[in-house]
Amino acid sequence: MEIFRLIKELEPWIASRKAEGRTTGFVPTMGALHDGHVSLVKRSVEENDLTVCSVFVNPIQFNNPEDLLNYPRTPEKDIEILAAAGCNMVFMPENDEMYPDTVRKKFSFGHLDSIMEGSFRPGHFNGVAIVVDRLFSLIKPDKAYFGLKDYQQLLVIREMVRQTGHKVNIIGCQIVREPDGLAMSSRNIRLTPENKANAHIIYEALKFAAENFNNYPVKTLENMVKEKLGSIPDSVVEYATISDAETLVPFEKRVPGKSAVMCVAIFLGGIRLIDNIILD
Ligand code: AMP
Repeated sequence: MEIFRLIKELEPWIASRKAEGRTTGFVPTMGALHDGHVSLVKRSVEENDLTVCSVFVNPIQFNNPEDLLNYPRTPEKDIEILAAAGCNMVFMPENDEMYPDTVRKKFSFGHLDSIMEGSFRPGHFNGVAIVVDRLFSLIKPDKAYFGLKDYQQLLVIREMVRQTGHKVNIIGCQIVREPDGLAMSSRNIRLTPENKANAHIIYEALKFAAENFNNYPVKTLENMVKEKLGSIPDSVVEYATISDAETLVPFEKRVPGKSAVMCVAIFLGGIRLIDNIILD
């Protein structure tokens, strides 16, 4: 596996692979890799001639400086994990390499950027879109793999691709969970053992919503889930929202024939976790 930190190393590698007509799958990450990331890499390895990953903790998508400072970083372990998963090249740039100047593009994602993550993390999706747009321009992948864990992010990326015209197929991949149901996340290693032991309640609350989607009005169900999440010790619930699974327009009530998604965000001992489930 090649490891590049500089754009001038990466560009000729990409150009020669393109010239050879080899297809490239791309998995962007912020590192501290776990089996959720590995599932994306393995899918890319299956579907493409080459797999490229990036490991970059993108400062401009953090609206909380402390969160950026405390974000887990395990670069050596990440390299081992990626090599074992079949990745052919990993791009691990420093901040100056990605952002040599301070001028920033401004995307407009309409309501997608004003709800849920967009409303609680102002500027977050613009930062995500800038870095992914830049990585797509450098790597020119045929396919790029994103987890459904970050459901709203996946829709934002699809919209960014529509707006920019990148010729890349965006693939959404299933959420990988711990045996107790907790969605895998780089942030989980920052949970205290007590909070980690309670975190399975998040998925249980989501499963409750899926099982009872036809039994309660949408707003009642949202409140029931908020109550279940709020009952976890040391928790603060940010949102538990049911919306149209394709557009993320919040549901006032069920719409026959349309699938919905319930997305939640919760702080557990100060660590922010998100998760979601499709409600059919
Ligand atoms: P991150 O490193 O958190 O920016 O995540 C990089 C990619 O991995 C994103 O597309 C995430 O949605 C995806 N991802 C993170 N956790 C999981 C998980 N538990 N299951 C599937 N994909 C995940």
